[in-house]
Amino acid sequence: MIKDRLASIGYQVVPFGEKADLGIINTCTVTREADTKCRKAIRQFVTKNPEAYTAVIGCYSQMGAAVIAEIQGVDLIVGNQDKFAVLEHVGQGKNERPLILRDRISPSDFSLSFVGDIPFDKRANLKVQDGCDFMCSFCIIPFARGRARSRDWENTLGEARAAAKRGIKELIFTGVNIGTFSNAGHDIVDLVDALNEIPDLLRVRISSIEPTTVPCGLYDRMADPSHCLLPYLHLPLQAGSDKVLQLMRRKYSMSKYRDYVREAMSHVPDLCLGTDIMVGFTGESEEDFEETCRYFLELPFAYTHVFPFSEREGTAVMKRDEGWIPIEERNRRCTHLRRLSEKKRYDFMAARLGQTAKVLLEDPRDGGFPGYTENYIRVRVPDPGHDIRNELVNVRLNKIRADWMEAEVL
Ligand code: SF4
Repeated sequence: MIKDRLASIGYQVVPFGEKADLGIINTCTVTREADTKCRKAIRQFVTKNPEAYTAVIGCYSQMGAAVIAEIQGVDLIVGNQDKFAVLEHVGQGKNERPLILRDRISPSDFSLSFVGDIPFDKRANLKVQDGCDFMCSFCIIPFARGRARSRDWENTLGEARAAAKRGIKELIFTGVNIGTFSNAGHDIVDLVDALNEIPDLLRVRISSIEPTTVPCGLYDRMADPSHCLLPYLHLPLQAGSDKVLQLMRRKYSMSKYRDYVREAMSHVPDLCLGTDIMVGFTGESEEDFEETCRYFLELPFAYTHVFPFSEREGTAVMKRDEGWIPIEERNRRCTHLRRLSEKKRYDFMAARLGQTAKVLLEDPRDGGFPGYTENYIRVRVPDPGHDIRNELVNVRLNKIRADWMEAEVL
């Protein structure tokens, strides 16, 4: 959105790393590593462009404005409430102390301007929600992003229609706690149904959804091949031990989580089930970790993303004074679980060798056209010598290559 706005008022937008008169750095603060990477990116920009005006926006600006203000060359720091209005403030604060705009985040539902220039080809994000009220004990997001709120119904549909008109065939819902979407009397099932009515929009994928918030109606839509909602469910587990789930203040037990999975698998044929697991959480013993690994192997997951626990000032877990796991041990657990995830991903693909699937093709790369199947297997088909990007094609899945599959168009 900011890039579109810049282009519309006459700026030439260049890739990060090239010389520029103005830098806008959008930041993340979800882990300590994210903070470090953001500071590095800011310093890189300022060093390459000492005369430029430098604005830093987003979650790290919201939470760490004082630290960012210490970085030489930063002119403007804007938190999440006003980040999309950043251009109104460009020019202020230069050569003095940086101007810091870090207002309280409004709890009201919101509208956004439509995105015109999608940075990656053919699959685009549709932001439907922001913020979270769940307050998991490790998580900084409710502080950085504010209370749960939803995007205005008409504004959301308007962007989806505009995207479809531009040729976008697949939209991916984004937000912090998407299952809590609620606006003008509509919930997330109403939203996928309304998107299903947009003629040229062929696919909708939900990026990640909290286990306690998935309405059964979503499974009916995923199971219906004529509905645009794809059979893909990313259901963050975080830990496979009831003790650790409680310490994390997650809203379910393992037995509940298993019920959710059973329900999803029984409703949706050929579902891709993915998850997130955090390892090395304060209080997670070796036995707790092994229990998590056992459940990960036992449940029908296709993969997991694995994150080492990262201390975030201001979160509830920081009050604990025992059970801290050394960083090396967190990393060891990460490596172990990532290996298990690779195996599960391989098994998921192996079970589908020789089968047919529908793939939406993206920009050509490495002599072929990549894309995703409906159930989220990354594939590549050979270049037929003419442009087939943005076509929805039937393929046969022929061969496993690391974490993707070779396929042929039928
Ligand atoms: S539900 Fe997700 S975003 Fe919300 S507090 Fe928990 S981990 Fe953070």
